[in-house]
Amino acid sequence: MMSKKKKEIIIEDLEIVDAGTEGVGIGRHEDTVIFVPYAVPGDIVDVKAIKKRSYYHSKIIQIKKPSPQRVEPACQHFGECGGCKWQQMDYTMQLHYKQKQVVDNFMRIGKFPFPQVNPILPSDDIYTYRNKIEYTFSTRRWLTDTEIISPEKFDNRGLGFHMKGMFDRILDIEKCHLHPDIGNRIRNAIRRYAIENNLSFWDAREREGFLRNLVMRFSSCGDLMLIVVFYNYNADAEKLLNHIHQSFPEITSLLYVINDKLNDVITDLPVNHFAGKTHITERMNELEFKIHPHAFYQTNSKQALKLYTLTKEFAQIKSHEIVYDLYTGIGTIALFVAKEAKKVIGIEYVDAAVESAKENAVINQMDNTDFFAGDMAKIFTQSLIDTQGKPQLIITDPPRAGMHPSVVKQILEIEPERIVYISCNPATQARDIAMIIEKYKVEKVQPVDMFPHTQHVENITLLVKK
Ligand code: SAH
Repeated sequence: MMSKKKKEIIIEDLEIVDAGTEGVGIGRHEDTVIFVPYAVPGDIVDVKAIKKRSYYHSKIIQIKKPSPQRVEPACQHFGECGGCKWQQMDYTMQLHYKQKQVVDNFMRIGKFPFPQVNPILPSDDIYTYRNKIEYTFSTRRWLTDTEIISPEKFDNRGLGFHMKGMFDRILDIEKCHLHPDIGNRIRNAIRRYAIENNLSFWDAREREGFLRNLVMRFSSCGDLMLIVVFYNYNADAEKLLNHIHQSFPEITSLLYVINDKLNDVITDLPVNHFAGKTHITERMNELEFKIHPHAFYQTNSKQALKLYTLTKEFAQIKSHEIVYDLYTGIGTIALFVAKEAKKVIGIEYVDAAVESAKENAVINQMDNTDFFAGDMAKIFTQSLIDTQGKPQLIITDPPRAGMHPSVVKQILEIEPERIVYISCNPATQARDIAMIIEKYKVEKVQPVDMFPHTQHVENITLLVKK
């Protein structure tokens, strides 16, 4: 049966009163919430809206009166690229809504008492802050409105970012402001070469094509890693890699991956060496980290230093204390605090990351650290505590989904004196803290901005045993 098409209505003079956690503006019409993408609180707009169950989804037709906090976005792709939803919002306002996100989640989901949240720490750089980016080749480039109505035929091949919610559509990117500009030159040169040499781009529907992805990693020490992902390796791949190698001496590590799977995930695939080093090096204060292609490293390096410095300040580690760093990645936090502690144990499920953590411990001569690989719920057990010692402090930095309930339960059983919970999702952080609040008091809350122009917020919470 054909579904009845929902009627579109026009709502005039709608005032935007809030910015939601998904990064969209929020208004109200007859007591119903209206989500307005790319609107700024304070805007008065006319929108086309469609009623969903309990809310309206809408599109701006006209901005009647711009918010005083509306600014000109720097990026030519703004409005189409889903990456930076808040570029049209003054940075101070972005920070305000990130701070509010933490408070709202703690109040609505957490429902526990907490002290006044410290003012969010802004990012030094609001552009070129990303040290890692991934681009996708596609035969189905997103066409602009003008291209669609034009009788001219356009080349549909593109190299850029996925359109939101579309597995096969790519927005062709000419310039991204989030990473160093050398990345733009490399990407554009590769696209030009590929088109001139008629190399085929990946077609996600037909599941065929030669060129699939580019991954770039930039380090503050001047290293630049490029990983080219091909469907298969042949003479064309070699020619392309040679061309890149000769054109860009800035690339210190040129690698490639063969991915003949249906999905774009490459973390489970071997990385092949073409030229230069097999890793990049990052420095943080006096520490040096070797980062291998698949290893996680905080995406905003300068803010990572601030995040870790605050973590250390909150932790107030004493020299006789045992510390556990849960979700340690390549051991960065563990190594950052190791000098203060008697011993630090890091746990992480990516084997290669744990290998890197051990290697980084040797490079930095932190022999009071040890690292264990495996799923947190399975590794972080009483028997590990029995062999490694009971921690006085637990630092935990889980992914967006938060901690598994059994991990939270385990923390509650261990009852460390202090917990420093770092989170990139205050909603799951609030949920997890609510589970341990009977034994702990929230002592400090400190949001940090790692991702300007997005709605994402990082948050550090110090919990002290009652
Ligand atoms: N603390 C690190 C990494 C944080 S990102 C840093 O600051 O760099 C979260 C880490 O948790 C990732 O490295 C991820 O691989 C790991 N992880 C995710 N789920 C996990 C699980 N179930 N068990 C163990 N580690 C996990």
